[in-house]
Amino acid sequence: MNEFSIPPGAAVLFVDMNSFFASCEQQDNFYLRGRPVAVCVYTGEYGCVIAPSIEAKKRGIKLGMRLNEAVRLCPELVPLTTTPDKYRDYHTKIMQILRRFSDQVIPRSIDEAIVILSNHRLIYHDLEPVARAIKKAIHQEVGDYLQCSIGIAPNAFLAKLGSDLIKPNGLTVISPGNIDLILSQLELTDLPGIGHGMAQRLQKAGIETPLQLRYADPEFLRAACRSIVGWHWHLRLNFYEVDTEYTSAYKSMQAMRQLSRSQRRSPEILQQILFMLCQTLERRTVQQSVFCKTAHFWAKYEEGRTYQDDMQFQTPVQDGVALFNLVLKRAQTKAQWNHSSESLFNSGLVALGIGVHQFIPDQLVQYQLFEDNVRKDKLRKVYYELRDKHGSRKVMRGAEVSENPPLQDVIGFGSVKDLYGRITPDWMSE
Ligand SMILES: [Mg+2]
Repeated sequence: MNEFSIPPGAAVLFVDMNSFFASCEQQDNFYLRGRPVAVCVYTGEYGCVIAPSIEAKKRGIKLGMRLNEAVRLCPELVPLTTTPDKYRDYHTKIMQILRRFSDQVIPRSIDEAIVILSNHRLIYHDLEPVARAIKKAIHQEVGDYLQCSIGIAPNAFLAKLGSDLIKPNGLTVISPGNIDLILSQLELTDLPGIGHGMAQRLQKAGIETPLQLRYADPEFLRAACRSIVGWHWHLRLNFYEVDTEYTSAYKSMQAMRQLSRSQRRSPEILQQILFMLCQTLERRTVQQSVFCKTAHFWAKYEEGRTYQDDMQFQTPVQDGVALFNLVLKRAQTKAQWNHSSESLFNSGLVALGIGVHQFIPDQLVQYQLFEDNVRKDKLRKVYYELRDKHGSRKVMRGAEVSENPPLQDVIGFGSVKDLYGRITPDWMSE
């Protein structure tokens, strides 16, 4: 696994806006400042609090609480319905500020972003003043009621962890000098991306704390997690970057076959050979615990003719059958476009090959790494409850919000894809 290395001067800032939705409302409405505010999808008796203000949090108001319960707890609570356009506007302004400091800004969600400063170390020797300058610029140019917590570390994961430690308005540097002290005060589930299931798995293997996780043998962790993810935990806690740039020993995988004269005579056999090649790739990607984002198919015919097809996947692929079906379907579509009746599999075919590239680790496909799992579970629960109550038109997850008029834009939890298209790497957003 020596393909991983700490780039010298690696530096990442993670910027997390505090109580973002509520703060935006308080920014725009002076009356709301200093008051406990609860942003809700709707403000009926059983409306759910989806974003309590900093003041409301101090009074015990939590995400997912029903409004009637919240008002009982805090009678002066001001409930507000969401105004997604407002949050998007503020988000855009904040991202513009961040891009002044680095050309590598990765929005993580509507209220979070990763700012990579590794290539800017000649300009920024010390990163704490950079973080303070970001806070100041947001305060002065976007809104004086907006606060953020910033984490600074050599990798995105530890920067995110740092941003979680002090809220609101935190600034935490995680470095080789203080990481052990910081980790010694945390539980496994305090690490973003470690849910209860993963924590249990680790505990079963004798890893009880984040500090033990940091010092455990990576091969042992791989066995305990039953995947490469174990290695990734080792790498993250030891300052390597595995989250903004995934480096794999395998840049691509190929499977190809020269075809014999007898094989060429049967389209069914040719099709089966392609199927086998796809299955071979599936087996190898599964072995490496990766999914691919792109694939390349080629077929060589007599007299040097070739057919080629480059495929890009919205959702990363590992399944060989899916890959096989896709190759066939696209070949048929292309043939239709070209008004050609010639099949991909004809007796002129001399060789076939398929390659897959742009790998991402399977665990990152399966869940969002930085997601606070508890919060996510709760949001999902709230989401389905609301849906039951009000029907699917009224409530949607960010991923479901689309440009289509019938789909009402209620709120975009998490994903900012609708704002950015594909700027955010796939595995980082929903
Ligand atoms: Mg936040």
